[in-house]
Amino acid sequence: MLSVSSIPAFNDNYIWLLKNDDNHCVVVDPGDAGPVLERLEAEGLSLDGILLTHHHHDHVGGVAQLVERFPSLTIYGPATARFPEVNHPLKDQDSFSLFGSTVSVIEVPGHTLDHIAYYTDGMLFCGDTLFSGGCGRLFEGSPQQMHQSLTKLGTLPDTTQVYCAHEYTMSNLKFAQAVEPDNTALRLCD
Ligand SMILES: [Zn+2]
Repeated sequence: MLSVSSIPAFNDNYIWLLKNDDNHCVVVDPGDAGPVLERLEAEGLSLDGILLTHHHHDHVGGVAQLVERFPSLTIYGPATARFPEVNHPLKDQDSFSLFGSTVSVIEVPGHTLDHIAYYTDGMLFCGDTLFSGGCGRLFEGSPQQMHQSLTKLGTLPDTTQVYCAHEYTMSNLKFAQAVEPDNTALRLCD
């Protein structure tokens, strides 16, 4: 059984740590190696792999240092030239086994063109595509591409737990309130 916890990094990044019962783990989007290494040491965990969603520095910045420390890591990520560190390249609808669970890959272009998300055991690791109350900035993709990507994520079961890569909830809800002042669902942040 996988358990998930967050490792806070920078101002508002979440590096997600997925751990099995034998204290083996992987991390998602380690933008900074420092807090990951601290957590591994504090909890006596073995790092087996890294899952990358997209190429932005605050998501991949810690990879080189982690590989230096653990040279046999399996590094999952998009199968494009921007990820030379990836040794297990992935594209849409691929799947792989992680600690006995199946992880499905969903391509979600929009924030970047080669952004992917990971879905396993009812949990979605969506990088900078979907946030609590908002979506990621369109650095490379078109609004149509982002809309298609979000629509794809919308087909996942309603019980899906969403693990996004930044804490933007309050600022997203304030923006949403400015756009839809009469939306009663947004009154929670008054
Ligand atoms: Zn990003």
